[in-house]
Amino acid sequence: MDKNYAKSLEKQGYRVVGNHSAVKICNWTRNALNGKGSCYKCKFYGIRSHRCIQMTTSMSCANRCIICWRGDKAPVSKKWKGKIDNPKNILTDSIKAQINLLQGFKGNKNINKNLLIEMENPKHAALSLIGEPITYPKINELVNLMHKKRISTFVVTNAQFPKAIKKLKSATQLYVSVDAPNKVLLKKIDKPLFPDFWQRLNKSLNELSKKKFRTCIRLTIVKGINDVDLKGYSNLIRKGNPDFIEAKAFMRLGPSRKLFVWDNMPNHEYVKNFAKRLNKYLPKYEFAAEHKPSSVVLLMKKSLKKKRFIDFEKFFEIANKNKIPETKRYSALKMAKVP
Ligand code: SF4
Repeated sequence: MDKNYAKSLEKQGYRVVGNHSAVKICNWTRNALNGKGSCYKCKFYGIRSHRCIQMTTSMSCANRCIICWRGDKAPVSKKWKGKIDNPKNILTDSIKAQINLLQGFKGNKNINKNLLIEMENPKHAALSLIGEPITYPKINELVNLMHKKRISTFVVTNAQFPKAIKKLKSATQLYVSVDAPNKVLLKKIDKPLFPDFWQRLNKSLNELSKKKFRTCIRLTIVKGINDVDLKGYSNLIRKGNPDFIEAKAFMRLGPSRKLFVWDNMPNHEYVKNFAKRLNKYLPKYEFAAEHKPSSVVLLMKKSLKKKRFIDFEKFFEIANKNKIPETKRYSALKMAKVP
């Protein structure tokens, strides 16, 4: 990685780990430690924000999305370049970096001591921070190692690497971001490097549909830009056949502030209305939950019978026997304990 880029990341609160990974404390992790609430993934699925590591195993991505917070100086690449770090080192050093970044909380007498103790023993990894974590050639080994340590894994990809999705053997929940409902808008919003970006998106959704474990399609709604062509979105969603659909408001943060006006940032009601209209095209899905502070709405498959939470014990029991965890086997009606 370019040294200047690494320095600028550190200034923004990231910690670079090894040759290609990074950690950054999520605002919701701070909020949870401060007793100010947890993220929507806590409300929707049972993720405990104060025990979550927000990280990536690759800082490069194959898009220059205009809705991304990383800015146009972030590295882009069509394939993996350079060294491949050992999964064990990535995990150990990422946890160390996380604890180190949260050291300041220890001096704060108002913080619940139990939360601090739990924070030092992370139980969730959000592999999503920046770049494309799924392109790390040893992603399966890392994910397996996390599952062995009883750390759940949320893996996020922007659908430009269908072979990497195909190769991914297990995850607690796999996300594919769909930033636009059609080819013209996808090119405008994601500014992809690959000329065959549309085929890649479609192939990625095809691979997503074959996964037996929990899957989710995430839509980031930019008011007045990609909140159109619901039929286009529903066709893509049907192709990916995810268990969950998250419709989330675009946040006008970082470099995207130069490209968008405040009005492009929809409020919660706008996102909810969008999700309701989309739901009409997708009768196999139903409204499941919403989180107003993040302006996110969750739709889920009716066939899951409202079991949106993750049964972590069950998941690790299956995953650690090297079996493929199937959605229904580790989905629960109520928030489950974190092992
Ligand atoms: S799941 Fe995502 S939003 Fe929630 S605490 Fe982890 S990184 Fe933050």
